Amino acid sequence: MPGTLYIVATPIGNLEDITLRALRILKEVAVIAAEDTRHSCKLLNHYAIATPLVACHEHNEEARAAQLLARLRDGADVALISDAGTPAISDPGYVLVRCCRAAGIRVEAVPGPSAVTAALSVAGLPCHRFAFEGFLPAKKKAREDLLLALRDEPRTLVFYEAPHRLAETLGAVARIYGVERPVAVARELTKKHEELFSGTAGEACVHFAGEVRGEIVLLIAPGEKAQTEPEAVPAALQRLAAAEDLPPAELVRRVAKATGVARGAVYQEYLRWKGEKA
Ligand code: SAM
Repeated sequence: MPGTLYIVATPIGNLEDITLRALRILKEVAVIAAEDTRHSCKLLNHYAIATPLVACHEHNEEARAAQLLARLRDGADVALISDAGTPAISDPGYVLVRCCRAAGIRVEAVPGPSAVTAALSVAGLPCHRFAFEGFLPAKKKAREDLLLALRDEPRTLVFYEAPHRLAETLGAVARIYGVERPVAVARELTKKHEELFSGTAGEACVHFAGEVRGEIVLLIAPGEKAQTEPEAVPAALQRLAAAEDLPPAELVRRVAKATGVARGAVYQEYLRWKGEKA
């Protein structure tokens, strides 16, 4: 029987943020493939896990994937971890997972922390839908071009950003999205110097003008124009119709205004709702 590849999420700061299942699997597998073995030793020593480690990072992932695949075929179970959070999310992992799946090896997620979901969960920005863009390009022109291309994105934007580039990126956000665009900056989540900043892009520029340290997630709220709520249309129609005796055209006009959804689409929903009632 071939072994299983486990993709194991580890803490993004606080060592207590690891699941019981992750600890058990890390103890039971034949080998742990880690992005940086020295870094992961801290976590593994903390939990007295003595499983052998091999390095699997962006520079050796292809070659390492072939070796790990051979071990998996021989029946060994393997766990993949990264320095922090969920492997393969802006981290090595995709190549190994793709290679194992193509070879018919079972791949199981052992879910847990990730900076993107942790930041979204506390930022206070719309998060039913979001667009995770990973790291912004390091080069200024490429970064600004990407920000410009995403300006009308109707979902909350989430980026990983390096601390020494944050001030420059916030300046670009303020210029391209306007100083009033709400943003959030989650810094050092789950760690001693955790900070969660919420405010406008202009306020963020002032707040982060000096030296910034630590690990950072930058979140940008959708633009006003782009903030449509199609899922809110049926409830809004019913609420308004129950509250006021309005002619259909006025009902549709008001709901379109409140939800940001085009009148034609609201009218279609109105017809569907009327049809259901009849
Ligand atoms: N795989 C990881 C995950 O699931 O979150 C992300 C790895 S990526 C190489 C590292 C980036 O994640 C950091 O540069 C930072 O942008 C973000 N990050 C990681 N830990 C964080 C923390 N505790 N607070 C804020 N951002 C964090």
